[in-house]
Amino acid sequence: MTAPNSSHQESPRIAVALANPSNGELLERLLGQAFHLKHGFFGGHESLAQEVDLVVIDVACLRQHYKLIRDLRRRANPMVLPVLLVVESRGAPHPQVADELGKSVDDILRIPTSQVELQARINNLLRLRTLAREQDDARRQLVGVVSALRTLSACDSIVVRSESESELIRSLCQTIVDEDGYNLAWIGFNGEQSDSAFEICAWAGPSRAFVPDLRQNLSKPSPCADTISWCIRTNTTHVVNDIADMLPFSPLSERAITHQLAAAIMLPLKTESGPSGCLTIYSNRTDHFDHKECQLLERLAANLVFGLDSLRTHSVREQQAAEIHYLAYTDALTGLPNRRHLIHYLDDILSTPETGATEYAILFIDLDGFKPINDALGHEVGDEVLRQLAQRLQASVRDSDLVVRQGGDEFLVVISGAVRNGPQQDFVKIVDIAHRLANRIIAHLGEPLTVGGYTHHLNASVGITLIPEHGRDPTLLIENADKAMYEAKRQGGGQSYLFSKDIADSHQQRFSLETRLRQAMEQQQFELYYQPIFELSSCRIVAAEALIRWPQDDGEVLSPGTFMPLVEKIGLINPIGDWVLETAARQLRAWHNQGLELSMAVNLSINQLYPNGDAEHFAGLVKPYVDPSWIHLEVTENALMEDPAKTEALLKALNDQGFQLAIDDFGTGYSSLSRLQHLSLQSLKIDRSFVNELDRPDSKGEALVAIIHQMASSLNLHTIAEGIETEHQRQLLLDMSTGKAWGQGYWFSPPIPAHEFERLAKARARLSSRDEMVPF
Ligand code: C2E
Ligand code: MG
Ligand code: MG
Repeated sequence: MTAPNSSHQESPRIAVALANPSNGELLERLLGQAFHLKHGFFGGHESLAQEVDLVVIDVACLRQHYKLIRDLRRRANPMVLPVLLVVESRGAPHPQVADELGKSVDDILRIPTSQVELQARINNLLRLRTLAREQDDARRQLVGVVSALRTLSACDSIVVRSESESELIRSLCQTIVDEDGYNLAWIGFNGEQSDSAFEICAWAGPSRAFVPDLRQNLSKPSPCADTISWCIRTNTTHVVNDIADMLPFSPLSERAITHQLAAAIMLPLKTESGPSGCLTIYSNRTDHFDHKECQLLERLAANLVFGLDSLRTHSVREQQAAEIHYLAYTDALTGLPNRRHLIHYLDDILSTPETGATEYAILFIDLDGFKPINDALGHEVGDEVLRQLAQRLQASVRDSDLVVRQGGDEFLVVISGAVRNGPQQDFVKIVDIAHRLANRIIAHLGEPLTVGGYTHHLNASVGITLIPEHGRDPTLLIENADKAMYEAKRQGGGQSYLFSKDIADSHQQRFSLETRLRQAMEQQQFELYYQPIFELSSCRIVAAEALIRWPQDDGEVLSPGTFMPLVEKIGLINPIGDWVLETAARQLRAWHNQGLELSMAVNLSINQLYPNGDAEHFAGLVKPYVDPSWIHLEVTENALMEDPAKTEALLKALNDQGFQLAIDDFGTGYSSLSRLQHLSLQSLKIDRSFVNELDRPDSKGEALVAIIHQMASSLNLHTIAEGIETEHQRQLLLDMSTGKAWGQGYWFSPPIPAHEFERLAKARARLSSRDEMVPF
C-alpha cells in the first residue's frame, strides 16, 4: 500500500498583533528563526484558524479585534487556537484582562520578559495546540473507522446474499456510497481476452456523472489506464490523497475536481476464477483515506474478491450442470428431447392428480424403409434424413405437443386434448385426434425427400396409446405404443393402430418365443431331420433333405413353419443357416464313411443370400467334410427374383465352388422362363401343391405337372417332386417324367432323425429292386 501524503508543517506559525512595533521587533529578536511570525491580521481571516498555530496579541489589539479573536477560536473548535496576551508591566492590568483568561486568551505575559520565559510560554501554548490537533485527528480517525466498519459489514452481507456477479458489484458500489458518504465508487474488470480493454461495469454515487469522462479516458492509452493496470498486476492498493496535486498533468483530474472528487483509493480485485479488476472509491475530502480506513477498505475488497470467486465458480458449475442436463435429455443428432426426457415428462403427467381436465395420447412412429438408405448410402445420408424428418415431424404437431427421438428411426409424440364432455365422449375424442394427427404425420413424412443426391420415399407406421387407459407407467406406455406400431407395420405399414389388450397378448407370445429362440441357438437345441429323396423308378434312396427341427422340453418337436419366420425377422438366420449347412455336411461325411453314397439337400433362405451372400463362406463350411458337389442348395423361387443381376452372379459363384443348385417350391412364385434360363441351376423341385392335385378328379394337376416337366427338360433341369403321399402320385409322376426323376414325400418317408434315416437307408440298400417299390 502506498502511504497517504503528509501535510504537517515544519515550523509553527505565529500571528503577531502588537500595537507597539518595537514590541514586535523585540519578539522577533527573542524567538529568532525557530518560529514563523506573521505580523498583523491580513485578509483571509476565515482561514486564519487553520493557518496559524498561535496568536500573540496585546491589549490594544485585543480590544480592537476582540470579536474576531473570539470568532476564530470558536471556528477552530474542536481544535484549539491558543492566544497569548502581552501586557506592558508598567501599568497595572485592567481587571477585565484577567477575566478574559480561558475566553479570548489562554495566557498572559508581562513584558519586558526573558527569552526563556517567552519561549516556555509559547511552547506550552503550542503543545496545547498540538494536543488538541492530535485529539481531533484521533476523533476523526475513529469516526472514519467506525463508518468504514459499518460499510464493511453491510458489504459483507451483500457478498453473502448476492445471486449474480452483476447484482453483487452493483449493490456493493451503492452500499459503499450510501453507508460511508463517498462521492463515487466504481468497479471495473479487465476484458476476457488479453488485448481487450478494461471496462467499468458498475458504479454509484452523487458524482457518477464523472464515469463517462473516465470511460472515455480509458478507451485509449492513458496514465489512468496505466495506473489501473499496474494496480491489478502488482495487486497493490493505490491512494491519491489530493487529486488536485495531479494537476496540471492530467485533464482527467480537472474533470474529477469539477465533479467534487478530491481523493481516491484504487483497490485491486485479483480473482482466481475470471478477469481481475479494481474497486475505486472517491471522497470529496483530501487526505480522506488514512491508514486505518485503507486497511478496512482492503478487507472489503478482499471479501469482494471472495464473493466474486464463489459466484463465478457457482455459475461455472451451474453452466456445466445445465450442459450435462442438456446432453442427458437431448438427442444429439436431431436436437429433439430424448427417451430420458420423455420418461420424466410422462412421470410428471402421471403424478399430477387427475383433474379430469386433460387426456393424453402417445404416438409411436417408426419409419418404413429407412434401414436400406442407411445401409446403402451410409450413415451421413441416414443422419441427414433423420434430421430432416425430425423437422417435418416437429412441423406437423402443435407447439404444446412433445416430439421425442427414442433412437434409430423411432420417434414419439405426446399430445394432449382438453376434456369437456365426460369420460366416454372424451375417450372417443382423443382417439380421433390421435388418429387424425397420425395420418397427418404419415402423409407429411411420406412426401419425397432429397438427400445425398437421391430422392427417398419413406413410409411411417404409427402406434397409439392413451394415458392413463393403456398404462400408468411410462415404460409400459411406450412399450404398448411400440406394440401397436408393430401391429400397424404387420398390417402393411403406412397406417396408425390403437393399442389393445389383444395386441399385448400376441406380442407377449412373440417376445417369449424370441427369447427362447436365442437361448436355443446358444444352447444348440436345434436338430436336423432328414427326409429321403428317392429315384421315382427304382425307389432307391439317392439323397436326403436336411430339415430343421426344434425339440421342446415336453417332447413336442416344432417344425420350421412355427419359428423360422421369426428367426428371419430377428436376424438369427445367418448363424442358424451356417449351423444347418455344416451339420448336414458333417452328417453326410459320416454316411459316406459308412458306404451310403448320398447327396444332401440343404435349404438356403433369402436372408442368407442377401445382401451379403458369400459363396466362399458357404463352401468353407462344407469343405472340411465333403466336396460341395455332394450338396444341393435349395433356394425358393421368389428368392431368385430379388435382384436379378446379383442372383445370377451369386448362383454362378456357388456353382463355381462346386455346389449343386435347386429351385425349391417351383410353381408358387413369379419366375419366368427367360429368367430361369440365365441362372446356373441343376434341379427343379415341383411344389407339393401340384403333386396333391394329381389325385383329385377333374383337376388340372396332371396338365400342370406335365408342363413343368416339359419346361424343366427344355432348360435341362433335373426334377424332384415334393409331397408324394400316395403310390398313385408316384406312378403318375414317373409316367410323366423323362429320364431319372426323383421324388420325396410321406409315401416313402417323412423327415426323420439321423439315426433312423441311417437305419432306413441301410435297410433299403439290402432290398432287391422289386421290393424297393414298397414304401417304408
Ligand atoms: P421345403 O424345403 O419345401 O421342405 C419340404 C417340406 O415339405 C418339409 O416341411 C417336409 O416335412 C414337408 N413334406 C415332405 N413330404 C411331405 C408330404 O408328403 N406331405 C406334406 N404335407 N408335407 C411334406 P418342413 O420340414 O416343415 O419344412 C418346411 C419348410 O421350411 C421347408 O420347405 C423349407 O423351406 C423350410 N426349412 C426347413 N428347414 C430349413 C432350414 O434348415 N433352413 C431353411 N432356410 N429353411 C428350412
Ligand atoms: Mg427344400
Ligand atoms: Mg419345397
